[in-house]
Amino acid sequence: MSRFWSPLVTQLTPYVAGEQPRLPGLVKLNTNESPYGPAPEVLAAIAQANADALRLYPDPDAGELRRVIAAHHGVQPDQVFVGNGSDEVLAHAFHALFQHGLPVLMPDVSYSFYPVYCRLYGIPHEQVPVRADFGIDVRDYARPAGTVGGVVLANPNAPTGIALPLADIEALLHQHPDRVVLVDEAYVDFGGESAVSAVSLIGRHPNLLVVQTLSKSRGLAGLRVGYALGHADLIEGLARVKDSFNSYPLDRLAQAGAVASFQADAYFRQTCARVMQSRERLVAGLCSLGFDVLPSAANFVFATHPAHDAGALAQRLRAQAILVRHFKQPRIEPFLRISVGTDAECARLLDALGVLLAP
Ligand SMILES: *Cc1c(COP(=O)(O)O)cnc(C)c1O
Repeated sequence: MSRFWSPLVTQLTPYVAGEQPRLPGLVKLNTNESPYGPAPEVLAAIAQANADALRLYPDPDAGELRRVIAAHHGVQPDQVFVGNGSDEVLAHAFHALFQHGLPVLMPDVSYSFYPVYCRLYGIPHEQVPVRADFGIDVRDYARPAGTVGGVVLANPNAPTGIALPLADIEALLHQHPDRVVLVDEAYVDFGGESAVSAVSLIGRHPNLLVVQTLSKSRGLAGLRVGYALGHADLIEGLARVKDSFNSYPLDRLAQAGAVASFQADAYFRQTCARVMQSRERLVAGLCSLGFDVLPSAANFVFATHPAHDAGALAQRLRAQAILVRHFKQPRIEPFLRISVGTDAECARLLDALGVLLAP
């Protein structure tokens, strides 16, 4: 607290990111990063950009990157907005595209940054309870016209990993034709057939904004690149906020590396497939230790053990330099969120849990 803070800052409850400690022999399964890192071509492109021109400002509109992203998704460049991580893109979307006087609907179990943005921008929000099995029932989002400010959800959801079928996303879009429905697809590349991107719907639904990131499936959490896809009018709204905030959110290294990532498609597909295979092995291992694991379409699993306190398990794992995430929040306190690492990392986790759970 400081008497120099604005009244708004005094009231904020900031998001708490997962820790990034330096421990010897660390097995880091707490923030859903890729265990594989970016394609070699990405590192080469960053080195090249570095040598060239860091004394110059970057392209403020990231034109080449937006063209590459548009081509990857089969949309036009004016349907693409890029930002400094999808967290920044999400923040701009809350600012630019929700009706601020009315509550924004979101699941009660979801990415905990959403209520933080609402408080930052003074937007009321309503948390809609997920079902007892932690799935989302879109019928719970039906409201009379003109009573909500927008809808936001993650698909697959975080931290549950549960995917919502495309037909349910479309139902939400029909329920709220005059409001923006924001679908945060940070994990969609790990969904296989169970989590399908809503990008195919943006041509038919001018109220749909899809947000994706290079942080998880492209192994570039440290580069900070995220993007939104939607009708050109929504993208223009985001650009108006961006250009009233920071004209150059993506530096030259980020733009060069991100372009190269989309060009290294085979590497991207292979590493996503490896993560999905490791996920199935991790789920099987956890189940054989007595955990209940929610069906995951993401690069993490959400698991609970009927006989063990999740917070205590997380602490005892940490003492062995194995990090997993535990949220001290209603409904999800009995769960651990475990990122899918390499098979060797998952094996170390399972071995440690086997010892901790032994009678
Ligand atoms: C990780 C994550 C993000 C943020 O990703 P960045 O692009 O690294 O900012 C957004 N939404 C969800 C649901 C996430 O889990």
